[in-house]
Amino acid sequence: MKFTLTEEHKLIQEAARNFAETELLPGIIERDDNQQFASDKVKVLGDLGFMGLMVDPKYGGAGMDTIAYVLAMEEISKIDASVSVTMSVNNSLVCWGLETYGNEEQKQKYLTPLAKGEKIGAFCLSEPEAGSDATSQKTTAEDKGDHYIINGTKNWITNGKSAGVYLVIAQTDAQKRHKGINAFIVESDSPGISLGPKENKLGIRSSETYSIMFADVKVPKENRIGEDGFGFKFAMKTLSGGRIGIAAKALGIASGAYELSVKYSKERKAFGAEIAKHQAIQFKLADMATQIEAARLMCFKAAWLKDQHQDYDQASSMAKLYSSEVAMATTVEAVQVHGGYGFVKDFHVERLMRDAKITQIYEGTSEIQKIVISRGVIKG
Ligand SMILES: Cc1cc2nc3c(=O)[nH]c(=O)nc-3n(C[C@H](O)[C@H](O)[C@H](O)COP(=O)(O)OP(=O)(O)OC[C@H]3O[C@@H](n4cnc5c(N)ncnc54)[C@H](O)[C@@H]3O)c2cc1C
Repeated sequence: MKFTLTEEHKLIQEAARNFAETELLPGIIERDDNQQFASDKVKVLGDLGFMGLMVDPKYGGAGMDTIAYVLAMEEISKIDASVSVTMSVNNSLVCWGLETYGNEEQKQKYLTPLAKGEKIGAFCLSEPEAGSDATSQKTTAEDKGDHYIINGTKNWITNGKSAGVYLVIAQTDAQKRHKGINAFIVESDSPGISLGPKENKLGIRSSETYSIMFADVKVPKENRIGEDGFGFKFAMKTLSGGRIGIAAKALGIASGAYELSVKYSKERKAFGAEIAKHQAIQFKLADMATQIEAARLMCFKAAWLKDQHQDYDQASSMAKLYSSEVAMATTVEAVQVHGGYGFVKDFHVERLMRDAKITQIYEGTSEIQKIVISRGVIKG
């Protein structure tokens, strides 16, 4: 067992940190206030290879491993958790899903522009009445021989407006329940697709979250991913890897808030001394540092298992559950360390606190992670 990063990992970490500090930090408060999607920044992120970090170079990706992805997600999320959700959906849901389960034509046509960052992807599973219970899909995909007709509504879709490619989960045969569900590659400019209003959110405000309506949308049969009825398994396997990305995102939010707190506590004086000299503050920093270290190790373990092609379902759920709780606890304490200044936007920790909350909700709530983990525990 080695606890050291390779030179390549260190380079990725440094490149992501530089990008976040020089490109993402400027204007971040305004983007959050105005709910403005950073499309220009995402484009540069793509040019640098971060939108297809784990994709094979023959499909335009950077060919890195999942550890590198965790490192990059942590650094980007320390500063901008809105940009990092675009990155995580594109990398671990859309690109990974297509590379792992798509056929050669699908990879050439759709994966390559997504991995190069020329297009953005979105993952469309949730519906108004199907969130945690993803088997209750109401969106239908009617089999018409050489094509399918999709009808229904997906909601909460990240990258909903800017995405060029949607991966859409829909019910083909309701009698077969989850075995009648399919996954489709749908071009976002297909006739019959419309968007609801942009969601006005608590956190990750500059990310795009939209409802997407499908009215008689024609999708060629060759755009189905895998065998007939593979869609539910596709969604679950893809989300399992995606949770490593969200865990790393939560880790980044926590470590960003922690770093700001350490810095501030050495600058701010109260009762004739830097607040870092007061034990109450020291203990908060000690708790943050310990929990962040544990979360980071859990992220690396899940990523390592995935890279070794071992079962990582339980490890990714554990990493997401724990890291998201650490993100929430750390950011709340970071606001406290900053006192009144923590409550205003200029000091960044209030935004990180708002951004942390979503990591306990999407790609499976904390309660759903506990269901996955306990199933593994009981199975043995
Ligand atoms: C900003 C944002 C971005 C998102 N991006 C995407 C996206 O890109 N693509 C996509 O498909 N979805 C996306 N989602 C949807 C997200 O994954 C769902 O919101 C999430 O899975 C929870 O579903 P729900 O909101 O319907 O809550 P519900 O499933 O209604 O859950 C409500 C509460 O009940 C609990 N609960 C439910 N079932 C159980 C159970 N069996 N045992 C114990 N507790 C339970 C939940 O944990 C939760 O606390 C996004 C959501 C948000 C807010």
